[in-house]
Parts: sequence; structure tokens; C-alpha cells
Amino acid sequence: MDKVCAVFGGSRGIGRAVARLMAQRGYRLAIVARNLEGARAAAGDLGGDHLALSCDVAKEHDVQNTFEEIEKNLGRVNFLVNAAGINRDSLLVRTNTEDMLSQLHTNLLGSMLTCRAALKTMIKQQRGSIVNVGSVIGLKGNSGQSVYSASKGGLVGFSRALAKEVAKKKIRVNVVAPGFIHTDMTKHLNEEHLKKNIPLGRFGDALDVAQAVVFLLESPYVTGHVLVVDGGLQLTM
Ligand code: NDP
Repeated sequence: MDKVCAVFGGSRGIGRAVARLMAQRGYRLAIVARNLEGARAAAGDLGGDHLALSCDVAKEHDVQNTFEEIEKNLGRVNFLVNAAGINRDSLLVRTNTEDMLSQLHTNLLGSMLTCRAALKTMIKQQRGSIVNVGSVIGLKGNSGQSVYSASKGGLVGFSRALAKEVAKKKIRVNVVAPGFIHTDMTKHLNEEHLKKNIPLGRFGDALDVAQAVVFLLESPYVTGHVLVVDGGLQLTM
């Protein structure tokens, strides 16, 4: 049977690394991001018959149209990865409401919308696997990241509840919680300073996280799990 996977946030960073690994494993992929050129470049790099789509995960209609397009072009989605995410780090007293909403809408509501859309097709198939990308910050908290932390902590509660809700339909839902990973999101950070708190002594690479995502996507007896991929950072937080 066809293995069709939608990777939201698949144009860059962690999502792009997930897409690369999955393409190597024979999945047909839909690479989804707001910037269509970025999504096209990522899909083109994979070789083969993959799809690139533009979608803002925070917009219900975008998400609905995206799943319709995927089904039309690749077939029914049976694997979903939510790697679209943003951060707007600042102390809460300096955070404006717009930045609060954009983080919650992209990181939390966005995953709810894509999961709901995917489940409609997964329930019909009585199978499916979802991995949502959280963050170790959502588990441990961090000064200057309260809203981001809330969005990622919320994603854990959402994913665990959803795992219970859909297990009977043979659909699994898991979370990967990365620490500091080399991507556009972290390129402004002082790695020399921050890596002192990481037991493995380095930032992770997107591939380190992608391997964990693929492991959870394909592990038939794992659901409702949060897999931390942080070089041991949480041990020191
Ligand atoms: P990048 O900034 O490298 O990539 C983010 C991806 O998400 C891009 O493809 C971007 O494409 C897409 N995206 C952003 N907003 C939206 C939106 N509203 N709708 C659709 N797509 C969107 O980030 P990372 O790869 O680092 O992050 C991936 C996930 O991992 C995020 O959820 C992040 O919070 C999480 N994470 C990252 C960590 C890190 O250290 N890098 C640590 C812990 C968690 P476009 O801009 O074109 O929309």
C-alpha cells in the first residue's frame, strides 16, 4: 500500500531532514510551508514524485485545501509530521499580544488543524501515524520563552489526549521534543556558551531529530509518547 506523508514545515530545518529520510525509505511526500518556492526547492531535492504546497497551518481553509490537493495528487495521507513552528522569544512583560497569538496559532492551533484534517482520511483507512514536533522548552520551561513553552507544552497535552482518542482506529500520535538543533531558528544563538549546558557537548543536527521522528512514525506499538532529543540538555534544566 502507498505510504503518503505530509510534512508541514518540510521546506527547511527539521522538517526538511525528515522529508529526506522518508524519501529514502520510499514514502511519497507532500512538502508544505508558507513559502512555495522554498517548498518546491525542498521537494525538488528529493528527486522522484513528490509534491510541494503552500499553506499557512494557522489558517483552516489553507489546511483543508492542502489535504484535498494531497489526496488528489498523491492519494490519502497516512503519515503526518507537524514540524511547522515559529518562536518570538522575549520576556512576557515585553511580549505583545500579536506575538503571543502568532506562536499559539502556528505551533498549537496549526497542529490541531492538520491533525483533524489528517484524521478524517486516516479513520477511513483505519490506520495512520502522526508525529508532532514539540520542544524540551515545552517540558521544562525557559526564561524569555513562556509563550513558546506554552505552545509546545500544549502540544504534548493535545497529542497524548488525541493518542487515546484515536488508538481504537489504529492511529498513533507521538511527540518529539528537541533541544538546541542547528537550523534557521537557532542560528542567532551563542552556541559556544549554550553548549556548556548540554551533556553531549554540542547542538544537534536536523538529522538527529529526523531519525527520532521516523522511528516514532514507524514504531507500531508506540503511542502517546514524548521522545526527547536534546543531547541530555533536559538533565541540566
Ligand atoms: P525552521 O525555522 O528551520 O523551519 C520552520 C519551518 O516551518 C519552515 O519550513 C517554515 O516554512 C515552516 N513554517 C513556519 N510557520 C509556518 C506556518 N504558519 N505555516 C506553514 N509552515 C510554516 O525551524 P526548525 O526546523 O528549527 O523547527 C521545526 C520545529 O521544531 C518547530 O516547531 C520548532 O519549534 C521545533 N523546535 C526546533 C528547535 C531548534 O533548536 N531548531 C528546538 C525545539 C523545537 P515557511 O517559513 O515558508 O512557512
